[in-house]
Formats: sequence, structure tokens, C-alpha cells
Amino acid sequence: MPEPDQPYRLPRTVVPSRYDLTLEPDLDTGAFDGAIQITIEVVEPVTEIVLNANELRLDDATLTAADGRTVEVSKIRTDDDAERATLDLAETAEPGEWALAISFRGELNPRLTGFYRSTYTDEDGRTQVIGTTHFEATDARRAFPCWDEPDLKAVFAISLVVKDGLTAVSNGPEVERESLDDGRVLIRFADTMKMSTYLAAWVVGRLELSEPADARGVPVRTVHVPGKGHLTSLASEVSVHSLNWFADYYGIPYPEAKLDNVALPDFAQGAMENVGCVTYREQVLLIDPARSTQEEQLGVAETVAHELAHMWFGDLVTMRWWNGIWLNEAFATFMSMLAVDDLRPDWEIWNMFTRDRTNAFEIDALETTRPIEYEVRSPDDASGMFDTLTYVKGGAVLRMLEQWLGAERFRDGIRRYLGKHAYGNTETHDLWDALEEETGEPVRRIMDAWIFQPGYPAISVDLMGDRIRFSQRRFIPSKDDDPTSWPVPLTVRQVSGEEERADRILIEADGAELELLAADAVVIANAGSASFVRVWYDDELRSRVVARAMNVLSPIERYSLVDDAWAAVVAGTASAGSFLDLVQGSKDETDLR
Ligand SMILES: [Zn+2]
Repeated sequence: MPEPDQPYRLPRTVVPSRYDLTLEPDLDTGAFDGAIQITIEVVEPVTEIVLNANELRLDDATLTAADGRTVEVSKIRTDDDAERATLDLAETAEPGEWALAISFRGELNPRLTGFYRSTYTDEDGRTQVIGTTHFEATDARRAFPCWDEPDLKAVFAISLVVKDGLTAVSNGPEVERESLDDGRVLIRFADTMKMSTYLAAWVVGRLELSEPADARGVPVRTVHVPGKGHLTSLASEVSVHSLNWFADYYGIPYPEAKLDNVALPDFAQGAMENVGCVTYREQVLLIDPARSTQEEQLGVAETVAHELAHMWFGDLVTMRWWNGIWLNEAFATFMSMLAVDDLRPDWEIWNMFTRDRTNAFEIDALETTRPIEYEVRSPDDASGMFDTLTYVKGGAVLRMLEQWLGAERFRDGIRRYLGKHAYGNTETHDLWDALEEETGEPVRRIMDAWIFQPGYPAISVDLMGDRIRFSQRRFIPSKDDDPTSWPVPLTVRQVSGEEERADRILIEADGAELELLAADAVVIANAGSASFVRVWYDDELRSRVVARAMNVLSPIERYSLVDDAWAAVVAGTASAGSFLDLVQGSKDETDLR
């Protein structure tokens, strides 16, 4: 058990295993009543119980032992600054399993976090209210009292009491519906898997559900405001494909019994990967395939695939603390590329990714760049991680590793990792360790250098007789003596006549060498442009590559050849004239425009 890091980590003297939560939202007044029973394990004798609550009024609490004995809660103290509630006990609670029941009240807020209020205007011009949730990172505590940290996983049994006629969805499928005397209905949802609080979700309002599509027995629906059913076909197609594709890739069935994609008129993020109940800003989910561009469709597909990649990576296996959020996001980004590429190879999504990567190269060449992962004490410290360096550089270094290890070996390592840590929490290095165990390659050493050091190297490639010499230096135009180095995974392709060879090398601080395939060989130093590096060829090797670019380079490799050359001009290490020669040499280019 890690030492609690005050004031951001709760004491581990009491930990939850199950939440039985009933909420009664009144969409007209914006108020909600809640009742929760939390099954807890008291780990050592306690006289107080500390948990998270924010802007909730806790009315009453009782603590009951497994044998029915109760301990009086003598006082409830809430502290909205600390986002905590402390329950003082009249006597000591001994170690063992207890049930903590709390009744509480809150308000649907307009701030798009916690349990919040979203609105739309219906066909009659009336404002309709939706009660919906967004909890990542630390806003579950605005909806119910809880141990609101990602490693304190529990099972959630969620029930909603709502006006009859409203649509209500949550993580699990609806399992029971009971009409109450006052015209409301009690809707019970199935138990979730053991998961983090930030992944709980529910949505209630005047909403429509699409007919379920089927992903190997898992019903997939889109939840949307009335009248938008004709915009759901692409989301449905991508969802079914992604669920099946990820289940095969990860070697683990989808971990929930159903999937609802919920399109919300008001949503702060693009989308949120709540297990079984993924929420989206309406514009990134609903689209008319007949009246949209390929780019818009690709955007929807990528977003849906990204969220569904999280159902396993992030939801089934979750970072222990928020420093790991970059890996969660980078991995989902990387996986969404694989899944969308499988669905629509004609979209050539890796070409798009490689072009986007130029942006990450530029940001990461500045002195102001940051390492991908850094220390996070308060959850807010991690908010700076939701940027290009996480999504694009993070995704790109995973792509680099995958291509260097080989797609199958990488996949097997991912399976090993998910299988070992299912329903649990991990540190970033647990992924590297699983890949290392699977492949025997020094994955942890390589990846630690890439994620804890800012920047990236330029690789100089020089012809030395019958050998090729590779050396590295950090690409940072504002400095010329930066000593940072990386173990650089690189796949080198050589072509001579009909002969072709690919070698995987690892370039250390003192460089690396490789035998030249033949005296006239063309050397493509970063095959598939898979590694997150710039490449500088010496004059001879560059002229060979340029001369044969249209025959032996893929569109991505040609793009990178030009992109790297331009970066060298901007950095002042190459002349503008050499760049123009190169562009002149690729005037027959028709791809990637
Ligand atoms: Zn994500």
C-alpha cells in the first residue's frame, strides 16, 4: 500500500468494495436525493471514516457490521475545500467488513462536471433538461460520497428513480423496473465490473434510443435527443467493428454486457470512456454519411474507436494514479488508429497520423517542451497532460515500439499485461515489463528514456566504406550541446536492385553501425517512418534516396524525407538550396497532398 500523499490521497484504513447507489433526480427543480450503501473493509481499528464528497449535503449515516451490530456516527463533517467528509464514530470500528449507509442531497450543476444539467430545445420550442454525469478526474464526489481515487476500485449497483416516460441509461443494462405510486419509476441497472469511480455514469432525460446493433451478443445503441436517429449509422458501424476487433486483439471479451453511446448537447470533453455508457459531445458522434466529408467521418470513427479501446485499456486495467493518464490516452489513440485502419484501409489513417506528428515534432523541439510523463501529486497536476505531447508523441512512441518489436509480439505483450492486471491498477512500467517478459527486449529501459526525457533525437546516417554509421543528437535548434541521448529503436531498410533487407537496430548514446547491403544500396533509415526521430543523411546517401524516392519509398517515407529536410533547414543545419533540390526530385509526388 503506498503512503497516503496528503492532502490528495485518502487514508487506506478503510477501503470500499461495493456501492449500492440510488439517486432521485428531479429534472424540473434540478435537485437530487441520494441514498448509498457502501460495503467497506475496515483495515485497522478506526474512530473516524474519511471519504470524498463535494457540494453534497450528507444528512445521515449509519455503520453496520456483518453481524448486524451498529456503530453510531456521532458527527458528519464536510469540507468542500478539501472535498472530503469525515464521519466521527461514537466507538471504535474494528477491522472487518461493514456497511456504511449515507443519505444525501445535491443539485444538478450547470458546470458540466459531476452530476450536471444539460439542455436542448425540443421541436415545440420548449427547453428539455437532461441529467448526466462526467466524473473524470475527481468529480464522482460531486454526485455521491465515495472513495474517489482510481485505485480504489469497486462494484457499482446503480438505481435511478425518475419520472415515468424518461429514458435512463447507466453503465450496466437495465435489469428491473418498478412503478411507484407517485408516477415515478425505479430503474435498477446490473452490477458493473469492479472499476474506478471516475468511470461510473448515468444519463436521464427525454431521449431516444437507436435499435440495438449486435457485436457478438453485445447490444450497441446510440442515445440521442429526439429526431436525430438518422445520424447514428456510422457510430453504430464503427462501434460494432471496434468491439469485435479489440476483443480479438486484446484476447479478452468486452467487459460489459451492453454498450450505449450517448450524444449530449452539452459536454466539456470530446468524449468520455465510461464503461458501457460512453458519453460524447453530440457533434463528434452524430453524422450524416451522405452529407459529410471523409475527414469528418474519420474524426467520428477515430473518436468512437478511441473510447472503445479504453474499455479494456483504462477501464478494465487502470492507472494507479493520474501520472498514468498520458499512457491511457496515448494507448487509446494508438489503438484507434489500428482499429480504424482495419475498418477503412482506404482512409490511410497512418498517413494522417504521420502528418499530425509533424506538429508534435515541432513542439517537442522547443526548450519549453516537457517529458511525456512527470510527477503528479494533485489530480490537477495531470490536467496539463491532455495535449499534443500525450496524444500524438505518446501515440507515436507506442507506434515506434510496436513496429520495432513486431506487431504480433507487441500484441502478445499487451495481452499479457491486460490478463495479468484485469480489474486492477498499474504503474506505467508494468506495461513495459509485460512487453519485456513477452519479447526479451529491454523495453523498460528504452521507454523510460522516451517518456521521462523531453525531446527526441536526430539520427545522422553516414556511409563509412561498406558500413553505415548511425549517431544521435537531441534535435533542439536553440542549443547545440544538449547531452541527452536515447536508446533509439530503429528499423533500417536497404534496397539494391531486386534485393531488399530490413534490420532492427537499437542506437545507444555512442551510436550504431550496420553492414551495407551492397555498394549501391539505397538506405531508408527510418522504415515506415515508425520511429519518433528526425533523419539526416550524408550527401551520398541522401542523393541515393532522393533519386529512388518514387520507386522504393512509401508515401509516408517520402513525406518524412521532405519533412525532415525542411526541419533541418529551419534548424540551420542544411541549406535551403538542398531542400529545393529534394522537392524538385519529388515533383512526381501525387500522394499526401
Ligand atoms: Zn481517451
